Amino acid sequence: MAPRVFLVGAGPGNPDLLTVKAARLLGQAGIVLHDSLVDARILALAENAELIDVGKRCGKASAAQSTINELLVACARTGQIVVRLKGGDPMIFGRATEEVRALQAAGFDCEVVPGVTAAAAAAASLKMSLTQRRVARTVHFLTGHGAEGGLPAHDFAALARAGGTLVIYMGAQTVGGLAAHFIEAGLAPETPAVAVENASLATERRVFGTVATLPRMVGEAKFRGPVLLMIGVAMEAAACVEDVLLEAESK
Ligand code: SAH
Repeated sequence: MAPRVFLVGAGPGNPDLLTVKAARLLGQAGIVLHDSLVDARILALAENAELIDVGKRCGKASAAQSTINELLVACARTGQIVVRLKGGDPMIFGRATEEVRALQAAGFDCEVVPGVTAAAAAAASLKMSLTQRRVARTVHFLTGHGAEGGLPAHDFAALARAGGTLVIYMGAQTVGGLAAHFIEAGLAPETPAVAVENASLATERRVFGTVATLPRMVGEAKFRGPVLLMIGVAMEAAACVEDVLLEAESK
């Protein structure tokens, strides 16, 4: 039997960046379990569905992963079309494996529908490629948040040496420690860095600087939405382009 449970990527927020398949499944769903980051305009596509917020958002109470897994299985048992809607792409910092396993353990197959991850959305709106010939040959997607809170145990020296673009999810709270560790591990303090809040939405904001100034910039910006940090030589031109545009605007 074809699966009736779908782990669906909602993209970075802007409904235009939803996949056609995601939109179709939302229209067909009887139950939608969604994260708090998901935009209301996207949830509105689930016209006939019961909406369940299992939101995970820094600083606010959220359902434990085990509770979400159990809920998902209980929803699957109803036989309705169940959409588990996750911000961005389900397979990037989305704990999708745990949900897939929980469903499988209960005898339910599921299908995963990819979404536009925050890194892709931020790079697009900056008009900056995360990779660049000769300059940035690798991209690392990192979490800024350890499983027990605080800083994650990355190999900062190896990442600094790799010399590509570092994209940090969930790093707004730990940016001070992250920047300090990278610099201590050998990353040049003047390495370009950018923080993007609400990528793809009308409320998007960015701040530009270097890995050394990033903590201060993020602090001053007082971001409230989701924030992505991007560090690396490939981000240099982003700051330049922004400067040129600001200059043009002020004329
Ligand atoms: N699965 C998601 C990531 C979930 S982790 C994805 O693929 O995008 C949550 C983190 O994603 C946030 O803390 C933030 O770092 C980042 N994020 C999600 N949406 C974002 C957006 N619109 N703008 C900037 N960062 C975003």
